[in-house]
Amino acid sequence: MSAVKGLATRHARRTRRLWRIGVVVALVVACAGLTLFEFWSLRHSLRAHIEVQAQIVADNSEAALVFRDRAVGAEVLSALRASPSVRQAMILDAKRRRFAAFERAPAEESQSMRGHLLEPHQNATSLAVLRPVMRAGKPIGWVYVLAGLESVYWHLLVYAAVAVATALLGMAAASLLVSRLRRAVEHAEARLDYLAYYDPVTNLLNRHGFNERIAFSLSRAQRFGGQVGLLLLDLDNFKVINDTMGHQAGDALLSALGQRLRESLRQGDTVCRLGGDEFAVIVDNVGTAQEVELVAAKIVRTLEMPLMVTGQQVYVTASCGVSLYPEHGGDARTLVRTADTAMYCAKESGKNAFRVFRPEMNQRAFRRMSLENSLRKAMENGDLRLRYQPKVDLRTGRIVGAEALLRWVHAEDGSISPAEFIPVAEESGLIVPLGAWVLHTACREARRWEEAGLGRIPVAVNLSARQFKDQGLLAAVLHALDESALAPDQLELELTESMLMENVEANIELLRELRTRGVRLAIDDFGTGYSSMGYLKRFPIRSLKVDRSFVRDIPHDRDDCAIAGAIVALAHQLELDVVAEGVENVEQLRFLAQHDCHVQQGFYFSPALAPDEFERWVREHHGRFRYGALIPSARQSGQRSGAWNNALERLA
Ligand code: C2E
Ligand code: MG
Ligand code: MG
Repeated sequence: MSAVKGLATRHARRTRRLWRIGVVVALVVACAGLTLFEFWSLRHSLRAHIEVQAQIVADNSEAALVFRDRAVGAEVLSALRASPSVRQAMILDAKRRRFAAFERAPAEESQSMRGHLLEPHQNATSLAVLRPVMRAGKPIGWVYVLAGLESVYWHLLVYAAVAVATALLGMAAASLLVSRLRRAVEHAEARLDYLAYYDPVTNLLNRHGFNERIAFSLSRAQRFGGQVGLLLLDLDNFKVINDTMGHQAGDALLSALGQRLRESLRQGDTVCRLGGDEFAVIVDNVGTAQEVELVAAKIVRTLEMPLMVTGQQVYVTASCGVSLYPEHGGDARTLVRTADTAMYCAKESGKNAFRVFRPEMNQRAFRRMSLENSLRKAMENGDLRLRYQPKVDLRTGRIVGAEALLRWVHAEDGSISPAEFIPVAEESGLIVPLGAWVLHTACREARRWEEAGLGRIPVAVNLSARQFKDQGLLAAVLHALDESALAPDQLELELTESMLMENVEANIELLRELRTRGVRLAIDDFGTGYSSMGYLKRFPIRSLKVDRSFVRDIPHDRDDCAIAGAIVALAHQLELDVVAEGVENVEQLRFLAQHDCHVQQGFYFSPALAPDEFERWVREHHGRFRYGALIPSARQSGQRSGAWNNALERLA
């Protein structure tokens, strides 16, 4: 590679030298041509001048010749003294004998003149003209004028010197300009060359550079045998950081991450930034699959450590997918695809992890794709249904709300859980129209219950992250309320903590807008996300829903009891409503009720029901779930468990 480059440089240098010689020769030829032309034109004008002078003398010599007065002739000739180039002038009689003469030249020049014929002529040093002196149409004598060319040569010398100096100066200026231009072009070319292969933010190879590098690694492995490892990394929470800290901080973070990745790997490994928050690592000469796994584990661990970005400590994690040549792909495209599939699995498995590709993963990816297609069809065909799960207030036994939950019964695959198809709808963007449909249907249903005499039962609708980020959410909510004529306080929107933490300021504004219109806001699955107490105060939230994972093992699991208790206490402290979800048995019901969580939802009361079933269920169960009626022996409070006391202690 460098030999070829050296050859090209030598060739370019030789071409430049030839060019320079060519330019000099051209300039010399041009100067010589100009000087010759100048010589010719000067001699021509001198000749014309001498001819005029000779004619004047001839016109004035007639009397001198007629009266043979040499003194007059000499006087006429003396007028030529004013022309510095005239060396000698003579008036000749009809037989061309010297009659009168004017000579400027010193003795030795007169000598040289002696050799001249008294004829018009021109040579390298002089030119001569002969004019007749006419009387009555006949020549009675001649005027001979000889001029030297010294002044012409002097003039030419100066002219040539000026021409050469001008040409040299011009050439110097031009070559300076050209070399500056060349340097600028070379600089621009080098920059373009760099940008074609490198990412300017991290100084790592970009996607193009990555493609070339992996092709090189694979062809080497093909020729000499051996394995190549490909690791694809995707940062888990980069978007949050970019949105909250700004793009400059995002760039600084990426650059610091790139640096850290490079430092944590061997010299021979290549780190590339494929774009956004996606990085790739190519590991050459892999002996065993375990080696690449060790590299992946090391990367995930390295990235976990906090980074300083614009004076703040930032935590990032990454999900990493690993594939191996030749086991998981014989060419770069397949290898990237399999690593990508593995990376998605790492993300699905809870992020901050790595996964090595396995063929079953492809089936999952395929299922995901076909799920997206069927979901699209299901939406078109109206195969999705909304079911409603009641929320019960144990103090009165009344139904105080219903959560709308999507159901999809697939013709071949049977019932598909929203936990499976909602993420697919999110990724494909289908969630936005689907979410709007849920809002409309739920609002219409709640209005219908009211009209059917069930009373005001607020309906809760789950929002997904993508839907929450959508600019049209407020309009969709208002449209659904408007169209169904449902009072805004009969609609509750369930959000998750992570949704709120992305782009906090914009979210506060949107939530305040919804709140001022009267819409209720709840945090779903509370305790599973950031659980930052700060935002609970800042966001206009009305209620918290204790995640069902904390309810499941109540009252046996001390930790879950403590967490559920702490969440309930926190909600009361902040004057928020609190709802426990996933209540399946009376022990859970009793524990939660004893710890002041009176609104509950779960299979103990009812699963999610079709609208008419829900209507019937409400009519049948109104007032049935009063705590005192369910558990007559228990006092509602005062029976606090050890776990509850622990929770209070922790809070304190
Ligand atoms: P979620 O909002 O936390 O909904 C509660 C989930 O808990 C529902 O699961 C419900 O059927 C289930 N559940 C209720 N009581 C019990 C119980 O006693 N025990 C157990 N083990 N589970 C119970 P589902 O319907 O499968 O929904 C799962 C998640 O899918 C929901 O969690 C929600 O995040 C999402 N989802 C459902 N419908 C929608 C929707 O219309 N839009 C959006 N964006 N997400 C939805
Ligand atoms: Mg929910
Ligand atoms: Mg929930």
